[in-house]
Amino acid sequence: MDRPRITIFDTTLRDGEQSPGCSMNVQEKLRLAQQLDRLGVDVIEAGFPIASDGDFAAVQSISASVRRPIIAGLARACTGDVDRAWQALQGAAHPRIHVFLATSDIHLIYKLRITREQCLEQAREAVRHAKSLCADVEFSPEDATRTDVEFLCQVVEAVIAAGATTVNIPDTVGYSMPEEYGQLIRTLREKVAGIDKVTISTHCHNDLGLAVANSLAGVQQGARQVECTINGIGERAGNAALEEIVMAMRLRPDRYAYQAGVASEHLFASSQMLAEITRVPVQPNKAITGRNAFAHEAGIHQDGMLKNPLTYEIMTPQSVGVPDSRLVLGKHSGRHALALRCEQLGHQFERRELDEVYRRFVVLADRIKKVQDSHLLELIQDVVKGNASNSDALSSESKKFPPAAVALPFPRSAVAAAGANANDSHPAQVSVGAGQAQAQPGPAPTNWFGGGVPTPIADHHGDQEDYLWGV
Ligand SMILES: [Zn+2]
Repeated sequence: MDRPRITIFDTTLRDGEQSPGCSMNVQEKLRLAQQLDRLGVDVIEAGFPIASDGDFAAVQSISASVRRPIIAGLARACTGDVDRAWQALQGAAHPRIHVFLATSDIHLIYKLRITREQCLEQAREAVRHAKSLCADVEFSPEDATRTDVEFLCQVVEAVIAAGATTVNIPDTVGYSMPEEYGQLIRTLREKVAGIDKVTISTHCHNDLGLAVANSLAGVQQGARQVECTINGIGERAGNAALEEIVMAMRLRPDRYAYQAGVASEHLFASSQMLAEITRVPVQPNKAITGRNAFAHEAGIHQDGMLKNPLTYEIMTPQSVGVPDSRLVLGKHSGRHALALRCEQLGHQFERRELDEVYRRFVVLADRIKKVQDSHLLELIQDVVKGNASNSDALSSESKKFPPAAVALPFPRSAVAAAGANANDSHPAQVSVGAGQAQAQPGPAPTNWFGGGVPTPIADHHGDQEDYLWGV
């Protein structure tokens, strides 16, 4: 039972936010950080404090209010960055300074214009300085997978001697193959003095669709921290997807005998919240959290599902927090069912707010009979905004919600609708075929919340040098 513990380092708010169209304002980052806390991640990389005042404020505000996980702030390998990161982390219960410096020749020659010797010295000095401020220091040799292995070993050994407690090995450009990445981790473990005293971490990009496979290969060779993001968002093709890493380890302990502290039943809500905040929808066939991830269309699959869900499902939708759509929300639904569905969609309410959501819900349910998740999300947005009087709310809801059902963001019709003998002990759903009442693909989040979300602050990364966004 003593399976090695894997530290889940979530960088949705830092690397993830670098995705085109995914910038978030301070309030949105704080809300997502609170969800990541509920999800049970071990480390939240909250931002890059020197990059902008917005990033600084986000790290500061998350440090002050999210107390269980480690809060990391990113810094280039220079005094100003490290000091700024430390300043932002002042209020954190468990602060971490994350220092990075590129080590590949291509980055040293063309980007940084420094020699290997200068690089080694700069890394050592920056880590030493960070260590003088903070006990928990992580170092990332950016573009590690394209770095000369001997030199990489030298740098890693130097930063460990200078006080780094975690060494992260980024496949910054998403170029590595799983076997190759695993071999690199093994080489470091064999050659670097002091490496057994620190945590080795993976940070893999998905340019060839291998971020998750590479991360798992790293874990198999001794990495004990995985850097990842919700929905796999991140630079270019993104990072390793947190939900896929977690469920691979959970479902295949025969291959990956490790454990993570993540509460998988919060995965879906976290994914939905991110999509809602960034207004970047989750691709329908996204593993674990896409709306088709548990849908069964083909007749032979439906038949199997009805006889025994194990015929076509390797995990239950419930295990990752997908709402059981058979629980139809209508005007007879109670506050408890409503609160539960809100929570599954990523919203937790105080009593007073829930009262207001419930009041509006009853009015809406009376009119359109079946309240879909998309309706509910829009209604929630209105309450969160608190911008409408009762009568305004009624008339605006009347305009927004035509009686014909708009789609579920995660459309699945009930097993019961597709045939008899539904297995009630299993939440799996079978989407019914043509001619039946099949849910249609949902509108883009933009439409669900059109105008309802506070405008994000201006793109505060626009004027940054592009090499700020390393690792
Ligand atoms: Zn990255």
